Amino acid sequence: MISRIKGTTKLIGLLGDPVKHSLSPLMHNTAFKALNLDYVYMAFQVKEGFIKEGIEAVKTFNLEGFNLTMPHKQRVMEYLDEVSEEAALIGSVNTVKNIDGKLFGYNTDGKGFVKSLEEKNIEYKGKKIVLTGAGGAARAVAIQLAYDGAGEITIFNRTMDSAVEIVDIINKNIPSCKGKAFKLKEEELMKEIRDASIFVNCTSVGMEPNAGESIISSNKAFHKDLFVADIIYEPKKTKLLSMAEEAGCKYMNGLMMLIWQGAIAFNIWTGKNMPVDLIKKLLEKQGFYV
Ligand code: NAP
Repeated sequence: MISRIKGTTKLIGLLGDPVKHSLSPLMHNTAFKALNLDYVYMAFQVKEGFIKEGIEAVKTFNLEGFNLTMPHKQRVMEYLDEVSEEAALIGSVNTVKNIDGKLFGYNTDGKGFVKSLEEKNIEYKGKKIVLTGAGGAARAVAIQLAYDGAGEITIFNRTMDSAVEIVDIINKNIPSCKGKAFKLKEEELMKEIRDASIFVNCTSVGMEPNAGESIISSNKAFHKDLFVADIIYEPKKTKLLSMAEEAGCKYMNGLMMLIWQGAIAFNIWTGKNMPVDLIKKLLEKQGFYV
């Protein structure tokens, strides 16, 4: 690795806290090496409240671009020169490209999810999608799906206000999509799933410390044409996905969303396509599976 770093090597960074466990350095450096691109990706721990200094450093060291993770995805926006339409609606940025000192922000999380549906030939345009959760990931997934042509997005969340906030953004800005918000209640959720095409879990229920739990207790409402997605990728098959399998539904976990959000960022920085199959194999070696 060291031997391929030269005076010309372009630097891409990850700014966040914590960053130690991020899979992004491994994914991007493997892809740079495979495509013989003169870039290197480094993770930088930037503590909460220090994003302004982080951005100054990015400009001083002339990074080609960077990713953002917790807790900077929202706060970074005030330091950017331009933000994509989707990222502005989502209200957070996870990818920035530096062009001659001007910073352009994007959000590739929701796009990564949409791409993972497309790669499985799951139709979402004009369709009804039921989503549980209204945190950062749910917001990106729901707004991107609406932006890309979903017909109806119904969001259930334990905290009603955050679901209403997302739905209001959709209804005010994306008239082709109808947004509905509900407080998370099993009966209502089952009712909405019965005539939906896709059900997506965007809560953390199903991963540690809630591994073995599911956001819905029964698969009675799962019909054979329902596609079930869980954006959790560890464990590989959450309880929800086992329930979907039992009901005969097609399903996917969140690993391809993770890979595609990286691949879309990679393309923004380099103009090249990330070798996605290679990255999938690499992550399998690390114990992550689609
Ligand atoms: P977040 O902002 O903290 O949101 C967490 C969401 O889960 C909220 O809607 C929260 O509801 C809900 N929740 C948590 N515990 C719950 C419980 N016991 N019962 C019901 N709802 C519960 O987190 P996030 O960033 O959106 O991430 C959510 C999940 O997505 C995580 O598992 C994360 O690993 C995964 N993720 C995957 C990818 C990928 O690339 N595949 C990317 C990002 C995130 P309240 O609002 O009521 O608290």
